[in-house]
Amino acid sequence: MRFIIILFIIFFTACSSPISSLDVNMYNASGDYVGKVTLSESEEGVLIKLKVEGFSPGFHGIHIHEFPECDGPEFKSAGNHLNPEGKKHGLLHPDGPHLGDLPNVEADGSGLIETEVTLNGATLKEGKTSLLKGGGTSLIITEEQDDGMTQPSGSSGVRLACGKIVDPKKQQSEWPSDPTEEGESEEKEDE
Ligand SMILES: [Zn+2]
Repeated sequence: MRFIIILFIIFFTACSSPISSLDVNMYNASGDYVGKVTLSESEEGVLIKLKVEGFSPGFHGIHIHEFPECDGPEFKSAGNHLNPEGKKHGLLHPDGPHLGDLPNVEADGSGLIETEVTLNGATLKEGKTSLLKGGGTSLIITEEQDDGMTQPSGSSGVRLACGKIVDPKKQQSEWPSDPTEEGESEEKEDE
């Protein structure tokens, strides 16, 4: 009997434990896998670690968008920048920023973006600023850098790569096959 009670405790603890980190697979407009982003809960918000490739050298905009939909060619299905508090766009705007606004990231000479940024005030737990609220959100990297001021998206240009930010438990039940397997087999090694 005691053993069964312990089993129940383990079971319910596992089910109710909040997500502290999750992986996001990034794809370009052609549907090719371009790398992985890891999100984890931090003191200030959500820490975002990127390792993605295939970009032009230099700075690119990166934002969290409203919907977990990455349908090409321009990923319009992802919606606008995540903005649950009705603010203006831009980290430099006096009435900003959107919750989904992030500092620009830089691709090196080979087109690799390998860096970390923090999304201040966001969470992976439940709540108004959760990235998993309402089924999830998405992460998009753009062609141009975000000027931090221009409405509605900082003149950040074409949306180049998109990844869905969804609860990994729900993702498993929706897609019986692992979507990363297919993507990684298509990953190109040539630079
Ligand atoms: Zn914005």
